[in-house]
Amino acid sequence: MRTSEIHRRWLDFFAKKQHEVVPSASLVSSDPSILFTIAGMVPFIPYIVGTEKAPYDRAVSVQKCIRTNDIENVGRTTRHGTFFQMAGNFSFGDYFKKGAIDFSWELLTSSQDEGGYGLDPERLWITLWEEDSESYQHLVQTVGFPESRIVLLPWEESCWDTGQPGPAGSTGEWHYDRGPEFGPEAPSGRQAEWPGSPEAEDRYIEIWNLVFDQFLRGEGKGKDYPLLGELDQKAIDTGLGVERLAYILQGRNNLYEIDQVFPVIEAAQELTGRVYGADAEDDVRMRVVADHVRSALMLVADGVRPGNEGRGYVLRRLIRRAVRSMRLLGYDEPSMPSLLPVSHGLMKESYPELGPDFSRISDIVYAEEEAFRRTLQAGTARFEQVVGGVRDAGARSVPGEEAFRLHDTYGFPIDLTLEMAQEVGLSVDEEGFRAAMSEQRERARADAAAKKTGHTDTALYNRLLGERGEAVPFLGYTESTVAT
Ligand code: ATP
Ligand code: MG
Ligand code: MG
Ligand code: MG
Repeated sequence: MRTSEIHRRWLDFFAKKQHEVVPSASLVSSDPSILFTIAGMVPFIPYIVGTEKAPYDRAVSVQKCIRTNDIENVGRTTRHGTFFQMAGNFSFGDYFKKGAIDFSWELLTSSQDEGGYGLDPERLWITLWEEDSESYQHLVQTVGFPESRIVLLPWEESCWDTGQPGPAGSTGEWHYDRGPEFGPEAPSGRQAEWPGSPEAEDRYIEIWNLVFDQFLRGEGKGKDYPLLGELDQKAIDTGLGVERLAYILQGRNNLYEIDQVFPVIEAAQELTGRVYGADAEDDVRMRVVADHVRSALMLVADGVRPGNEGRGYVLRRLIRRAVRSMRLLGYDEPSMPSLLPVSHGLMKESYPELGPDFSRISDIVYAEEEAFRRTLQAGTARFEQVVGGVRDAGARSVPGEEAFRLHDTYGFPIDLTLEMAQEVGLSVDEEGFRAAMSEQRERARADAAAKKTGHTDTALYNRLLGERGEAVPFLGYTESTVAT
């Protein structure tokens, strides 16, 4: 089943169950305290915390999401994208646990001919809060779900809350068992955590998280807070990973191999001449490329522009990582003009608004690649020199001052130096880097003060020239002028 079809079926199923179809909100959340929309429930937060009355009792959406905290997982786990689509159904004071469980069971297991996803029920497991006897009883007695595939977890492992006093609830998570070839069997019944071992993580894939918003929680650190009673208006908030379901239904190994992503890997193979599946590290790089190109496409479409802070910096980093991954795959030419159109062609089926916007989006992405190529051209030789020096000295760490010089003179942001160092098996003295940064800020301040008083401290100026080893005029430094 195509990814766009999973998307469509989701909306159809819940629309038939009297849910209001709500279009995806932008990736750029209207709440400035949130960098990006990270879950389907974000646009509905006021209805869930009760600060606004929902205009409908039931809603359904497929929400575009970005999770930067998953960036290190991309390409390494089978199931994390920086961009992904979270399908959700919501109830604001209408149906509760039983209704949510029934809908999820029906949609997951009813046959594809009947409009469902047709998953084999025997492959499904569910995790619940150990005190949620209502869901447990309903599953066992009404749904007929076997106790041998129910896992009961403590509150810390199964709850949802906003991190502050307000609504909180237990959750039920549906997992799909990919089979013994992907890891050891997980134990059922009461457990401290799920799936119990890192080896089992690739076997049991979390596909759908149901949140049962039931309690009012009080003050407390982490998960250590009292439950003060039941909410007047209970809510259901769920999220299913569309790409995760896609790779299961498409019989693929991971979410980078689905119909909506894999053609970008194929394009990368063609450009680089490397073969996907031949080398584990190359495979990770190709998955990173495919993931990041898609995320960049969707972010620029939603109005983000590359920059040096906040959202713009995330976008910049995604484009840079994609470009650098292509270089590590042996391709030194501009690659975005070959990759971005492929991703665009794949995504516009579900997001037709992308169609007419492509020339604006591509101008931004291609210009960013060009700027980064210039940065790399300037700094890579210097970086390699530094690495050579570190190795010659029998050391394992790039000195902070060198990292600083790469940053200051060549426009290498520290995370680029960190990543490049890691790739050659070195660490970076980050503390030394920070010290050099703040020293320079001090100097800039002193310099500015000197300028104000009309007294230029030539000793300071000469020292700066000496340190740089070249006659670069000191123009002062702000975070926003460095990286290109
Ligand atoms: P995991 O434990 O696998 O990291 P999660 O518990 O962080 O997932 P939720 O916050 O519960 O995920 O999000 C709801 C659903 O969205 C998940 O069950 C999963 O199917 C999907 N999902 C979450 N993060 C990602 C991601 N980075 N890429 C793709 N799908 C995701
Ligand atoms: Mg997660
Ligand atoms: Mg999880
Ligand atoms: Mg979850």
